[in-house]
Amino acid sequence: MSQGIEQLIRPEVLTLSGYSPSKSPDTLEGKVEVPVKDIIKLDANENPYGCSPRVYQALATYPPFNVYPDSGQTELRESLSGYVGVGSERIVASGGSNQLIDLLIRLFVGPGDEVIHLIPTFDIYRFSTQIHGGSLVEVPRDKDFAVNVKAVKAAISRKTKIIFLANPNNPTGNITPQKDIIEIVATGVPVVVDEAYYEFSGETVVPLVDQYENLMVLRTFSKWAGLAGLRVGYGIFPPRVADYLLAIKIPYGVNTAALIAVRESLKDTDYLQDRVKAIVSERERLFNELQKLKWLKPCPSQANFIFCSVLGKAGELQQKLQNKGILVRYFDRPLLRDFIRISVGKPEHTDALIKALREIEEERND
Ligand code: PMP
Repeated sequence: MSQGIEQLIRPEVLTLSGYSPSKSPDTLEGKVEVPVKDIIKLDANENPYGCSPRVYQALATYPPFNVYPDSGQTELRESLSGYVGVGSERIVASGGSNQLIDLLIRLFVGPGDEVIHLIPTFDIYRFSTQIHGGSLVEVPRDKDFAVNVKAVKAAISRKTKIIFLANPNNPTGNITPQKDIIEIVATGVPVVVDEAYYEFSGETVVPLVDQYENLMVLRTFSKWAGLAGLRVGYGIFPPRVADYLLAIKIPYGVNTAALIAVRESLKDTDYLQDRVKAIVSERERLFNELQKLKWLKPCPSQANFIFCSVLGKAGELQQKLQNKGILVRYFDRPLLRDFIRISVGKPEHTDALIKALREIEEERND
């Protein structure tokens, strides 16, 4: 890029450090010891069982992909209303909940406005805040990653526009008790409770949305429904906020394939819930297996992943596992450098991971 054009780019973008997404296995062809098809992907909290078989059947026989989807999301909002149990006037969907995070920031946060970020947490809150020229107010969590409610309240200023609270938190996996959330919501500042992993935790503040007009909840189909690749998330908002979000969103944000996939997934919730149960019970087995390794300390999790402290270099461990064809997540960011995050896979994935960790342990002892 020539020097001239760069000078025209917004300064907040020039200094932005990007979001680091997970690796696509295709990009690792020839760089790991196994063929790409044998890579075990435990780095992005995806659903190892895939989506409902009804989704494949419906997509294979759906003809009109040449026509735009309903930008007003009428049928989608109605069916989500049935699933969530709130009126459709409160619901807005998007191409993944990441997009709704960005949309909320576009709605509430202008240059210089503040967003409270309960670190360590999901990095998209930072990323979108900074892109839009907002100012990030970081409130560190306690040692066990519990939200420090007193510190959150102390961080609120007249410029605070949103508090993001991932529940369960990513990457740490822990839950914030409802009484703490209510105490934060009672401040009157818009609070976004991100329940991307709700189906694994069973914890939700959705029943409270009628009582607090500053409470918003985000959900996704990426994790429990196995639709990460089709990109569909949604949120529950005060009706006035939902109207504004619909007004400012890019048209046709949820594509036709995603609309069909949601329709079919919601007809197959028993099947999907069985898979969720399998993942939750595998999470407990993975936790116990990790605990047996003296140099790892897994954190209890209510999500579909386990955050694990590593005695030694966590980044090197991630690389060694990658060489063996097992992808886990390492975050090269403050507060996170001594940890890896492991998504819960199928039982055979746990077995392969534990075997690889034992081999690495033997190499360490040599
Ligand atoms: N929120 C949290 C807490 C997440 O962990 C994720 C996925 N990593 C998302 C939102 C985004 O999910 P998606 O955009 O796939 O709906």
